[in-house]
Amino acid sequence: MTGRWEVVIGMEVHVQPRTRSKMFCGCAVGHIGDPPNSNVCEICGGMPGVLPVVNKAAVEACLKTALALNCEIPRHTKFDRKNYMYPDLPKGYQISQYDLPMSFNGHLDLDGRRVRIRRVHLEEDTGKLIHAGDKLHKAWESFVDLNRAGVPLMEIVSEPDLRSADEARDYAVALRTLLRTIGASEADMEKGQLRAEPNISIRRFGTDELGVKTELKNINSFRALHRAILYEVARQKEALESGGTVVQETRGWSDAEQRTFSQRSKEFAEDYRYFPEPDLPPLELDPAWIEDLRRALPELPGPRRARLVSDYGLPAADAVLIAADRDLADLFEGAVEAGAEAKPAANWIIGEVAPSGKLPSAAHLAEIVKLVAGGRITRDQGREVLAESLITGRAPSELVAEHGFAQISDEGALRAEIEAVVAANPRAVEDYRAGRRQALGALMADLKKRAPQANPKVASELLQRLLR
Ligand SMILES: [Zn+2]
Repeated sequence: MTGRWEVVIGMEVHVQPRTRSKMFCGCAVGHIGDPPNSNVCEICGGMPGVLPVVNKAAVEACLKTALALNCEIPRHTKFDRKNYMYPDLPKGYQISQYDLPMSFNGHLDLDGRRVRIRRVHLEEDTGKLIHAGDKLHKAWESFVDLNRAGVPLMEIVSEPDLRSADEARDYAVALRTLLRTIGASEADMEKGQLRAEPNISIRRFGTDELGVKTELKNINSFRALHRAILYEVARQKEALESGGTVVQETRGWSDAEQRTFSQRSKEFAEDYRYFPEPDLPPLELDPAWIEDLRRALPELPGPRRARLVSDYGLPAADAVLIAADRDLADLFEGAVEAGAEAKPAANWIIGEVAPSGKLPSAAHLAEIVKLVAGGRITRDQGREVLAESLITGRAPSELVAEHGFAQISDEGALRAEIEAVVAANPRAVEDYRAGRRQALGALMADLKKRAPQANPKVASELLQRLLR
């Protein structure tokens, strides 16, 4: 906590919806590494006299996002020109939405906090400037790449309902999960498909008035978001406690220096001379279409998380991890349906499947969970079978048979191996008998080398009995 100060954060998140082409022309949205200016035409290049056409897939992604965020969708929406001059903006204006956005008045529930969503609207991205030289003021040449100019962007604006850096990060993570679940965006921060812009102020506890805020631009990792907010809160607190003031301004985050720095003083909407885009007709949003989109939404992460706890008895922490990825959640439910027990299936998914980045079929995962739970193979063998099954696509039971994996749980069969271990490790045996319990680990490790198929539980019990 920050003592007498309350932190107030609102977030603007820019998300690139999943589309093949740009917002108002047929150019490909392209990939990182495409040659500069290879995805540009007269429209996104800002030539005079051309006509933009709205990308339906972008509108659909925006509406799905708005519906998933419980927003109201109006009957009419329109695009506006936001006028400003900047070298990465070839037209001299950006097409955005001003007073009639695609949606408004929604909310997203985090664990324990409802974050109100002010609006979700559509706009186009700008180009990119590249300065040759290590610093802008030392650059000897500047280049502009318009591959990104005109790429669709959804802007998701929250009310100032977040109260800490943790909550702000949780909110951004929850948004990413939601966007991926509904297929509206890949929301990959490393590729710049999700950029967060928190605005941050602090105020005395007990007051309702908002303090002066600063806005942090274009933060592109959850870690940077968290750190930048912590830094900014500390900076504002120090300024106010030492009798200074906070200036309303836009600030950037330097990851190298781990600090925020002033970029420009805050602009106001009137600075932009917004006016309706004359080349695009207002959009009529057919309520029947909206209803179809609403009905087609998959189960959202929040409700699914709750259901994983109530239907399967999963611990909340497991449910959070699994519901965060629609594929993992589907895999979990599929494996349980195929006969795996819920908690072990969750353990395998969190511990093995998720880190591997590959997905087994639900039937295969269920097989492995059952083979291990039934004592037929060891956990390590299960891991090996899973890894091989992920590569070859072959059934685990087949691989177990082929490798001759079968766990030895029979004491008679294990006794000879264990006696050999005891004979080969007199020092560890002595240590164990002298009361140093950790010596058991060394003996078990040796047994695992000699008899990888030994059932660890049975072997450990037998070993301890022999050492008594
Ligand atoms: Zn174009």
